[in-house]
Amino acid sequence: MEIKLYNTLTRKKQILKTVKKSHVSIYSCGPTVYWYQHIGNLRSYIFSDVLKRILLFNSYNVRHVINITDVGHLTSDADTGEDKMEKAASKEGKTAKQIADYYFSVFKNDLEKLNIIMPDVWPKASEHIEEQIGLINELESKGYTYKTEDGIYFDTSKFKNYGKLARLNIKGLQAGKRVSFGDKKSKTDFALWKFSNPVGVRKQEWDSPWGIGFPGWHIECSAMSMKYLGDRFDIHTGGEDHISVHHTNEIAQSECATGKPFVNYWMHGAFLTFKGEKISKSKGGLYTLSELENLGFSALDYRYFCLTTSYRKQLDFSIEKLKSARNAYERLKNICQSLEDDGNENKKYIEDFQKAINDDLNTVKALQLLWNLLRDKKAKGKIETIRKMDEVFALNLLIKEHIKIPKEVQSLIEKREQARKNKDFKLSDELRNKINSLGYSVSDTSEGPIVKKS
Ligand code: AMP
Ligand code: ZN
Repeated sequence: MEIKLYNTLTRKKQILKTVKKSHVSIYSCGPTVYWYQHIGNLRSYIFSDVLKRILLFNSYNVRHVINITDVGHLTSDADTGEDKMEKAASKEGKTAKQIADYYFSVFKNDLEKLNIIMPDVWPKASEHIEEQIGLINELESKGYTYKTEDGIYFDTSKFKNYGKLARLNIKGLQAGKRVSFGDKKSKTDFALWKFSNPVGVRKQEWDSPWGIGFPGWHIECSAMSMKYLGDRFDIHTGGEDHISVHHTNEIAQSECATGKPFVNYWMHGAFLTFKGEKISKSKGGLYTLSELENLGFSALDYRYFCLTTSYRKQLDFSIEKLKSARNAYERLKNICQSLEDDGNENKKYIEDFQKAINDDLNTVKALQLLWNLLRDKKAKGKIETIRKMDEVFALNLLIKEHIKIPKEVQSLIEKREQARKNKDFKLSDELRNKINSLGYSVSDTSEGPIVKKS
């Protein structure tokens, strides 16, 4: 069955045609590991996981790379500002490697909880300096670079297709020439290599043909993706914020170095927003997965929440919305687990399901089909069909979580239910605190309280 994917490059849904028959290569821009990833970042990786699971469902062999950015990502996209890793290392009094290792391990843990399949390769930028220097050398020998006071820059005027992904209006951008952009010839030019200034202060710096320094953020992804997936590969993913700068620059570097088209399908996940705006420190909403867990949600409650909206639409987050998603998800799981297994699959539902997911990852429709199946009194083969669908949803729909609740906690829960019935909320809160202090959390749903280990 054909698979259609929305390609940012063409602004169209296109039928997937892979470079190598039956194989798909995917590169997902990974995290900059200077801090915890927030649930917005995690939405991006749930999106690429659903994509990957759909390709596996369609019997493709998938090779997936997620990089780790542990150097070179500056606080501003204009090649100015501090290196995020250096800043965090100084603030926490640690080495850059200690910082990277810690936040990388937290990130991996989050992915595991979210049932995200690990990539085949996790390349780190700091371990691929040679490849990045090689690529800059290639660009230099072909005349695409120039040197300034602070580094080696890519000359975007030399690449006639510059900005095609984002449909940038280059003339319009250049009109702002009075705005200072340092020694750069053009506003869109970007750093390939930055010089350490002065040498010996940064925690991470390397020698290069141009002087001691560190790579630019964009060159990392070009070098690592081409190393592990080849000069031309199938799908590149990332958040929608990467379209106009990061991915635009990756295309420029890679296509100028190889003289070939770089990636066939560019796919972008829309943002998780908070009160209608991009989540940010000032607006709030920057929860981590552990913070949601402390509030009594599971990682899969959040995964379910993400599946209820198309990856291409912005999704507005609130605790209230997550609560309703959790209720629906708990109900779904309860129904799935109460069914009798007759050992068959329901071919019709599976076919409709595959049609939905193959239409640009339509998880909204796919979930509707699952609910229809559950409500369909005549349908046979429910359990096996759910099992099949869950290969893509990855919501553990048929996995019973056995948690042993100690008698003491059980009796507190019963007392609390009684207090709630009597509308004695003071007592009910006190009992909740007692339950929490014993390491359990309780959340109230229309089906009654749900108890989890916290
Ligand atoms: P970073 O660690 O900043 O490089 O971001 C990691 C990934 O998360 C990138 O693919 C970003 O595009 C993505 N991202 C950042 N903020 C959000 C958000 N609010 N919603 C969805 N994705 C995001
Ligand atoms: Zn990237």
